[in-house]
Amino acid sequence: MGKIYFIFLSLFYFSVSAQEFGGVYPLRLNDASNPCLTPAQYKTLELQIADAQLKFGLTSSNQKNMTVPFSWPLKTANYMSDCNYYYIANYLDQDPTSPGIKDYNCGSVTYDGHAGTDIALLPYPIYKMDNNQALIIAAAAGTISAKVDGNFDKNCASNTLTPNYVAVMHSDGSNSIYLHMKKNSLTVKSIGQTVTQGEYLGSVGSSGSSTGPHLHFEVWAGNTAATLRDPWAGACNSLNVSTWWASQKPYTEPAIIKAQINNIAPVLPACPATETINEDTCFVGGGNARFYYYIRNETAGYVANLRIIQPGNTTFSAWTHSSTTNYLAAYWYNIKAMPTTPGTYTFEAIYNSITCNRTFTIGCVPAGINELNYTEQIQVLPNPNNGEFFVSGSQIGTKIEVFNILGSLIFSSITDTEREKINLSQQNAGIYFVKFSFGGKTITKKVLKE
Ligand SMILES: [Zn+2]
Repeated sequence: MGKIYFIFLSLFYFSVSAQEFGGVYPLRLNDASNPCLTPAQYKTLELQIADAQLKFGLTSSNQKNMTVPFSWPLKTANYMSDCNYYYIANYLDQDPTSPGIKDYNCGSVTYDGHAGTDIALLPYPIYKMDNNQALIIAAAAGTISAKVDGNFDKNCASNTLTPNYVAVMHSDGSNSIYLHMKKNSLTVKSIGQTVTQGEYLGSVGSSGSSTGPHLHFEVWAGNTAATLRDPWAGACNSLNVSTWWASQKPYTEPAIIKAQINNIAPVLPACPATETINEDTCFVGGGNARFYYYIRNETAGYVANLRIIQPGNTTFSAWTHSSTTNYLAAYWYNIKAMPTTPGTYTFEAIYNSITCNRTFTIGCVPAGINELNYTEQIQVLPNPNNGEFFVSGSQIGTKIEVFNILGSLIFSSITDTEREKINLSQQNAGIYFVKFSFGGKTITKKVLKE
């Protein structure tokens, strides 16, 4: 009997442990052999800033103390529903020796000679880039001192391609530099025009020497790369004495930044192909589904608390994930039995005391459409257009929303006809996103108003 009991425990143990899958998120990061900027590109940037100074009567200084506090240089579009969207792939390299590396916190989150902070998108970076979910904004008010647009923006490797970028000179003569922007996403303002703190500068892309969508944020006290500053205050920052952030974020920010539920696994193809998220929020009930959670700065010793909350706010099922390895970015999933009682449920994921939720519906009848077929079925015509266009093929009850390039909602309706007219004639010319939500699926189409 004792032996049978032992076997039963073993099977139980294996069946539990086998239900957790995942590991490091498949990322490619810039490194010493894939630097964010070439020496020639630094030279061009210096000349551009010096030229703008002369032309617009700006003055640079070389101060070590922050006088113009910076706010975070990214924000999300308001249709981005993930709990968070970024991780820091690289800080500045504070070690002058080669190949030695050391970030401001005396850690190794950098590569040899790196001169900026690389803020990368996570998860689904190409999808986020395609849909303009992460927007680059001015860290402080100032005057545009350099700007380049129109270059290829889906690079996956190190090379000498030219990045799209904006630099802003602040009132103390310092410059903040924003690199790798998405092609044709840059502010319409030109060199010499002023921007306010938080003003839109562009969308995150992968232009220039870049292995994936990220913002390279660099700070110069003056008008040359030799006046480089590290905005992060820490024991190993020898470039300046204090933080340049109005409110400096912690060195690491462990958190679950997206929780999602899938019938079919997400597809993460090699760069630059767009990821397929395959997220579901509408389930008939019963059977199993995959519960995914994406962790930024996964830290050994931390525990993720996962739970399905049922109507009435009680627990349907709960489990944990124990972190045993440090990862900049990781993903995990568990296969879990789905409830059968109809209602609204929540997948709750807590890590480092931060909660990330995703609600889903049981008893929801999926529209019997597959996302791909539905995408083909919906038509936006004419496109490009003069501001008036029709959407056809969407199911009755589909929510149609139109967002501008800055992510602001400018039109919303629930369609009661299969052919709906949308009028944007009062809006500026440019790119708009028409988002269709139906049966737990969302589809976004791009529209150009000429
Ligand atoms: Zn960089």
